[in-house]
Amino acid sequence: MGAFDPLYAILPVWAQHAAVTAYGLYWRQLRFGPGYSQFVREYEGREKFSQEEWREWQVKHLTKLLASSVDYVPYYREHWTESQKRAALNGDLSALPLLEKDPIRANPKAFLRDDMHPSRPQVFLTSGSTGTPISSYFTIPELRKSLALREIRSARWAGVSFSMPRATFSGRMVEPNPQSKGPYHRFNAVERQVYFSAFHLKPNTAQQYVDALHRHNIQWGTGYAVSFYLLARFMLERNIPAPNLRAIITTSEKLTPEMRTIMERAYGCRVYEEYSTVENAIFASECEHGRLHVSPDVAIVEILRPDGSPCIPEEAGEVVVTSLMREYQPLIRFRLGDVAMWDSEPCPCGRQMPVLKEVIGRIEDVVIGPDGRQMVRFHGIFVNQPHVCEGQIIQEALDRIHVKVVPTDGFSTDDTNDIVHRIQQRLGDVRVVVEPVAEIPRTNAGKFQAVVSHLNK
Ligand SMILES: [Zn+2]
Repeated sequence: MGAFDPLYAILPVWAQHAAVTAYGLYWRQLRFGPGYSQFVREYEGREKFSQEEWREWQVKHLTKLLASSVDYVPYYREHWTESQKRAALNGDLSALPLLEKDPIRANPKAFLRDDMHPSRPQVFLTSGSTGTPISSYFTIPELRKSLALREIRSARWAGVSFSMPRATFSGRMVEPNPQSKGPYHRFNAVERQVYFSAFHLKPNTAQQYVDALHRHNIQWGTGYAVSFYLLARFMLERNIPAPNLRAIITTSEKLTPEMRTIMERAYGCRVYEEYSTVENAIFASECEHGRLHVSPDVAIVEILRPDGSPCIPEEAGEVVVTSLMREYQPLIRFRLGDVAMWDSEPCPCGRQMPVLKEVIGRIEDVVIGPDGRQMVRFHGIFVNQPHVCEGQIIQEALDRIHVKVVPTDGFSTDDTNDIVHRIQQRLGDVRVVVEPVAEIPRTNAGKFQAVVSHLNK
C-alpha cells in the first residue's frame, strides 16, 4: 500500500501530504512509462470497431489465452479434464467449468503463467464485495493498460482526464485518527489529487471536504459511490453551494437513480457510473448518452441463468467473466458474485460495445458510528489478514460491532486485536467482539453479505 502503510499513521499531517506525493510520483512513472501512449491509441481505435471486428478481436485473443492456460497455468493444467482441455484448445469457452473465488484466494500463484517471468509484478489485494481477499498479479504493461483504459473509456467519456486535478474517495486510511478535527484529506501534489477519508464524513465535516475541493481547484471526483452520495446529502442539508466540478465518476458500489439525483443536485455536474473490479475482471463505463457499455477488450462477459445457459436481454443473471486483459494471471469463467442484465436497445452513441441495462445487487449496507458518522464499505478490514478466510461485520447497535471470521491455521489473538483496532480506527469508540466461526451463513438467495446491520435505518 506504499504511502498508506502503518508507518504513515504515525507521521504528522505535513509528512503524510509528502508521503502521498511521493507515492504519486511512483505511480506517475509506472503509468506513463513505455507503452502507455500506445495503449491509449489502441483503446481509442477499438471504440470504432464494428460488431464483426469486435468478434474477431475477441476470438483471436481468447484462442491465445485458452491455449496458454492449458499449457502454462498450473491450476487449469491440473483441474481441467482432458475433454475440457480439448475444448479450450478449440476455443469453446462454454464447455469450461466456472471458476469460484476460493481457489484463487487459497493459492493465487497457481493461476500465474509459469512461462512468464515479468519483472516487478504488482500485487493488488482486494476484499472484493464478499469480504474474501484475493491477490491479483499484474505485469507492469498490464497495469499501464488498465490506466490507459480508464483515461479513454471512463474519464474521457465524462469529459475529464486524469491529467486534471481530481478528488478520490476510497477505502484507504487517509486520516488515521478517528477523533481528528481535520483535515480529512491528503494532497498528492504530483497528480494534483485529493485523497478524501471515507471514514470521517459527517454533516458537520462536510464543509471541510468542500473547502478542500476549492483550495486545490479540483475538476472532477472519482471513487466510492456511497461516499460521494453521503457528502452530497450533507451538502444539501447544510446548504453548502456546489463546487466547480465537471463530473463525478463513481466506482465500487451500485449507483441508484436516487443517489444520482441527489449528487447531481449537490455537485452541479453530471454523475457517471463505472462498473469494474480491482482484478480488472470486467470494465463497463457510461458514455455521453448515459448507457453502461462493457469493454469487450477487457473481458468476455457472460450473464447466465442458474442452469448455465445465457440470459436474454433484460433477464437478470449471474455475471461470469473471462479476462482478456490479464495474460499473466488468467481468470477464465470467473464468478464475480454480481447479478446484472443486458440491454436490448442499441446506444445512439454508435459504439458497438454491449450495453448493461443494470447491475443489480452490489449495494452494501452502511454502518453508522456512535457519533453519527456513516461508514461506507469495510474495505480494508480484511485486507492483509492472511489468517482470515472470510469475514462478516454485523452492526448490533450504534456502539456494538460483532465480527464473524472463518479463521485459517495460525489465527491468533494478534489477528483478533488487529481487527478490533482497524474497526475502532474507522468508527471511534465502539465495542468490538471477534468470533471465529466454522462458516458464515448465506442469505436465502445464497448471497454472502459482507455487512449486516441490525439498526433500524
Ligand atoms: Zn453509448
